[in-house]
Amino acid sequence: MQFLELLQNNATACYLTVAFLSLCIGSFLNVVIFRTPKMMEQEWHTECQMLLHPEQPIIDHEKLTLSKPASTCPKCQTKIRWYQNIPVISWLVLRGKCGTCQNPISFRYPFIELLTMLCSLTVVAVFGPTLQMVAGLILTWVLIALTFIDFDTQLLPDRFTLTLAALGLAINSFGLFTTPVSSIWGYVIGFLCLWIVYYLFKIVTGKEGMGYGDFKLLAALGAWMGPLQLPLIILLSSLVGSIIGIILLKVRKENQPFAFGPYIAIAGWIAFLWGEQIMKVYLGG
Ligand SMILES: [Zn+2]
Repeated sequence: MQFLELLQNNATACYLTVAFLSLCIGSFLNVVIFRTPKMMEQEWHTECQMLLHPEQPIIDHEKLTLSKPASTCPKCQTKIRWYQNIPVISWLVLRGKCGTCQNPISFRYPFIELLTMLCSLTVVAVFGPTLQMVAGLILTWVLIALTFIDFDTQLLPDRFTLTLAALGLAINSFGLFTTPVSSIWGYVIGFLCLWIVYYLFKIVTGKEGMGYGDFKLLAALGAWMGPLQLPLIILLSSLVGSIIGIILLKVRKENQPFAFGPYIAIAGWIAFLWGEQIMKVYLGG
């Protein structure tokens, strides 16, 4: 317990601990972001096979999990050793290349590690060493994973959105960020308001503009913050969306499928940390 007391009384120790921890979490998030869509695909394959050919025995491919098999270089398949897997530092020491075959390693890996650290330190700065900080860190990490998974694959896995919603309802049953009643209504309204937009859009244009993952993510954010933050999240997500959309259009040039999840996640995170201040300024209070 001495260590916890030190963290509560010494701001520097708290920042340093969170910086170190969040770099390691960022490294783990890289694995989560890369493997979760592949794991889901493997599960769909198995399910489809069971449905279409129930009489055939299931071919037992090596099941992909977050921990197995060990990470390898995608080009030469050499196992990545522990000292080549130190967040940011290894990438710099290896100069962004595989130690064996010199195949370039994407800048995205150290970028996500650094981003995780910066966002985590921001949470510490806003909440200080409190229980809210601990909850805020967990929310931040899950939102980073969701942002990049949706950006890559246009998927917002239930295992993250629904867990986040359950967690929001649970912590607010003790009133950590909002009252229990407000948390429940945040969940319900968060889900319904995008669902209605989706349905109207579908009736008018005959196209599907969003996915159910988007509703579940907004429902989860509602469960964390209550319904009053939802208008701000929707407003901010359109703002973030137009800014990132313009940048991506310039960088990529080609027409990529449109994912709305990352913007909801980023807007949700901003509203989570500064929502009340933004609303005070906006409402002139
Ligand atoms: Zn290699």
